[in-house]
Amino acid sequence: MNSLIEQKRKNIKVIDLPRKDLRPYVTFSCSSCGKTTNVATETLERYHTVKIKCPCGSVTQYVINRRSAFRKKTNLPVDILVITAQSSKTPVKATGYVDDISVTGMGIITPTYNSFEIGDVIEAHFELPLNNREKVEKRCVVVCKDDKTKRIGVKFIDSETSDPRIAAFVKS
Ligand SMILES: [Zn+2]
Repeated sequence: MNSLIEQKRKNIKVIDLPRKDLRPYVTFSCSSCGKTTNVATETLERYHTVKIKCPCGSVTQYVINRRSAFRKKTNLPVDILVITAQSSKTPVKATGYVDDISVTGMGIITPTYNSFEIGDVIEAHFELPLNNREKVEKRCVVVCKDDKTKRIGVKFIDSETSDPRIAAFVKS
């Protein structure tokens, strides 16, 4: 199957991870039939995204939003390729700067920030200044946009745990 078509069929939702002492379970609800599943908050702590398959056959990918992840300020040039768009006004390609980065996502300043919609899936191409310049491609979902800073916030969705290259850069 064409990966673009596969992406379009995928349901993506963003959830805020609560403190485990406040809410021991997170309730996920199926995008198709509404059936709910409880998962222990503790179990979710080491993941950035989880896929939940409902008995009805529908799969929903949840991007776990942690407010606590440390963000490193930066100004790395980034090329953006749009994989799936929520609206027809979203450009196919864009360029900008990575303003800040954490192990879970990043803030991107781009002149075309206003064309993006929450839920758009993008591929971000940039270089990390590690020992050797490391070319990185990350698949992300747009989770917010801000008019004042001309910035979009994105979360990584291409792996369930941290990218070691980004973890190393954030710590450097
Ligand atoms: Zn279902």
